[in-house]
Amino acid sequence: MLSAKRSITVKVVTGYVIVAILASLAVWYVYDQVIAYSQIAQSNTENNQQLILVSEISTNLNESENTSRRLIQSGEQEELKIYNAQIDSIKGKLRKLEETYENIDLEKETDSINKLLDQKTENLKELVALRDTDRNTNYYSKALSELKNIDASFKDYNYENRFRNLKPYQKDVLVKWLEYSREDNAERITTQRLDSVVKSVKRVLTDLEFANRQFQNEVIQKENELLNNDMILNQQLQSLLAGLEQKERENTVERAEVFQNMLNKTSNIIIIGGCIILLIILYFIINIIGDITRSQRYRAELEEAKDFAESLLASREQFMAAITHDLRSPLTTVMGYTDLIQKTDLNDKQKHYLNQIKKSSEFILRLVNDLLDLSKLEAGKMLIEKLSFNPKKLIHDTVNNVIPAEKKKDVDIIIEVSDETNVQIQSDPFRIKQILANLISNAWKFTEEGEIVISAELKNTSDKNHLLEISVEDSGIGISKEMQESIFEEFSQENSSIEKRFGGSGLGLAITKRLAKLLDGDITLESEQGEGSKFTILIPVVKISETREEPEREELTDQTEESLDLDASGKKVLIIDDEPGQLSLTVEVAKSMGFEIETAENGKIGLEKLRSNKFDLILTDIQMPILDGFELINRVRTDENFKDLPVIALSGRTDIEREVYTEVGFNNKLLKPYKTKELKQSIANLLHLNYEEKEEKVEPALTNIQLKSDNYDLTDIYEFSGQDEDAMHTIIQAFLNGAQDSLEELRDAFDEKDTDRMGKLAHRMLPMLRQMRANEVIVVLMKLESREEITEQQFDNFENKIFELMSSLNTSITA
Ligand code: ADP
Repeated sequence: MLSAKRSITVKVVTGYVIVAILASLAVWYVYDQVIAYSQIAQSNTENNQQLILVSEISTNLNESENTSRRLIQSGEQEELKIYNAQIDSIKGKLRKLEETYENIDLEKETDSINKLLDQKTENLKELVALRDTDRNTNYYSKALSELKNIDASFKDYNYENRFRNLKPYQKDVLVKWLEYSREDNAERITTQRLDSVVKSVKRVLTDLEFANRQFQNEVIQKENELLNNDMILNQQLQSLLAGLEQKERENTVERAEVFQNMLNKTSNIIIIGGCIILLIILYFIINIIGDITRSQRYRAELEEAKDFAESLLASREQFMAAITHDLRSPLTTVMGYTDLIQKTDLNDKQKHYLNQIKKSSEFILRLVNDLLDLSKLEAGKMLIEKLSFNPKKLIHDTVNNVIPAEKKKDVDIIIEVSDETNVQIQSDPFRIKQILANLISNAWKFTEEGEIVISAELKNTSDKNHLLEISVEDSGIGISKEMQESIFEEFSQENSSIEKRFGGSGLGLAITKRLAKLLDGDITLESEQGEGSKFTILIPVVKISETREEPEREELTDQTEESLDLDASGKKVLIIDDEPGQLSLTVEVAKSMGFEIETAENGKIGLEKLRSNKFDLILTDIQMPILDGFELINRVRTDENFKDLPVIALSGRTDIEREVYTEVGFNNKLLKPYKTKELKQSIANLLHLNYEEKEEKVEPALTNIQLKSDNYDLTDIYEFSGQDEDAMHTIIQAFLNGAQDSLEELRDAFDEKDTDRMGKLAHRMLPMLRQMRANEVIVVLMKLESREEITEQQFDNFENKIFELMSSLNTSITA
């Protein structure tokens, strides 16, 4: 599962890395293409500049054309300068154009344009020179001087006729001039002379005309040359331009092709890259989906396996519960009967056999209890309580319970608990006691001589939180290093021969460890084989109060008196009951009220005690052997001394009304199991004592006795005992002793089919069992009490149950 997860992560990361590499490659490629494209765009701009240059050259040429015309017209130097500047600029631009085309050789074209330009300039200059000459040549004075030489006999003044072939302006000039000359030489001019003058003039004019025509021709020729030159120049420029344009077009097409190719290539690359990325993503998605499906399948399989394991655990738990329960019942019966047989007359051999049976039964019962605990721990059903207790007291109690009173070994038990542990702390005293009991009993079991030291400390971790450290150190056989590793596992025993010798199931330490963990604590072991072992438990606890001093018994009594809700101190009560449990229960209640107490187990003894003592009150059972409650009240009321003595009947009989009791002389009657409050109220009324009902809060925290179990609930008795553990102990012990006898008698009566005796016995047993809420056995006893017949099997069943109950109670007070 974990590796599948890791593989998915690796795949996702690899996928991302590959996609990132491909994406960077694509970006790099596209960037490269963009750069190339911008270079093409750059060259485009350059080309545009070249075209602009060409068109500028063309414009400049036109301008120079205009300037040249103006120059020809005016012949002004200023215009010539402008023209030259324009030609220079054209040449400069041509040079620039040539330079900008690195790849194309324009030299030929520009050379020829330059030459044409030079030629044009030459032509222009010549034309201007011609024009100048024209302007500077005075044809009229020439003509005049020529005409002065003409014959003075020229007399014909008919100018019109004479100059009819001349141009008007010539004619005009000549006429003016002739008028003038006639005025001067009127006397001298003769007709003859006039003819010769005309001839001369004609000739002069013809010459002039010729010269003029020649000049005009020359100008025209120059102009034509200039025009031609311009044309050629323009053509050359046009062809240059066309060539450049052509080249430019080709370049543009080429660039467009390159660009298109580039675009195609880029889009192809992008498409291919995209496809590859898609494929990779697809590959990884398929792969990851495969992995996820696989891991889902594994998960489903794991869940199935987990469900199966849980169902197995549940079945095992059920099986364990069933088997332990089924084992416990017959086992307690065996033990019960063993106890019964032990009380009969037996020879030594039989006693020995019975001892063996008892030991084995006890061993199996311990094993069954351990198994039950273990299965509860494994199923997480072992509940932990948070109760207040005194660890020092708990340690002392446990030691007292575990170490047999009649020590047969030479082993010193040393308790070294620090003063700090003599306080009230909060944790689960039952579990801590269970742990401690196992450690101490192990130490006792595996130590033949020397000492067992039980030490305890309360370490401060924070303000309220403390660590309870208890260690049990013995000088016993010790534990080998190999064994230490598995000592806390189930069924781990070092050496079967030792176990056989010492007994044990191999579950104790496994349960101990789990219990310690359940309490958020731990257990550690230090041991040397042959030298002893030291088990240390560390349990986090909460400190409740600083009560250091262990209250002495007397102090306790004082305290109890102080807080008595009904103070009967100084008064004496006689309690009569044939059922030891009930008797001791009532005794404890009376004690808690401060009474001085006398007891009797039947009416006869009661009467005897009554006569020899002075009593303030009698509390009596009704159904008793020898002399019952009714007989007793009869005797009491008929005796003058006791006729006003308050007597309260405590009866389990429900078939007789209260009035019957009061009629025969009882002051009151309480139905067993009565409530302490009822009893106190009744006593207070009869003895005129103050009684204020106090909220009687059951604080199971103060006891080490397990108050509740599957087959009993001792809360009421705990209440009766005034929440005193020792009193509880006494009551239960009394009940167990009485019940043992009652059972024997019951079996006899059942065998003899003596229903009446059975009924009486059941009646005697019922109140106490009711008080203990031992519901399983109550039903049968009620049948017996009402003289109903029951089958052999029912009786056997009842017997098993009551033995089981007694065994549980016994464990509870001795644990
Ligand atoms: P058991 O019920 O057999 O005592 P435990 O789990 O309590 O089971 O103990 C397991 C084994 O650990 C014992 O059988 C014994 O071999 C060893 N062991 C436990 N406590 C001690 C000790 N104080 N000294 C020597 N050996 C011990």
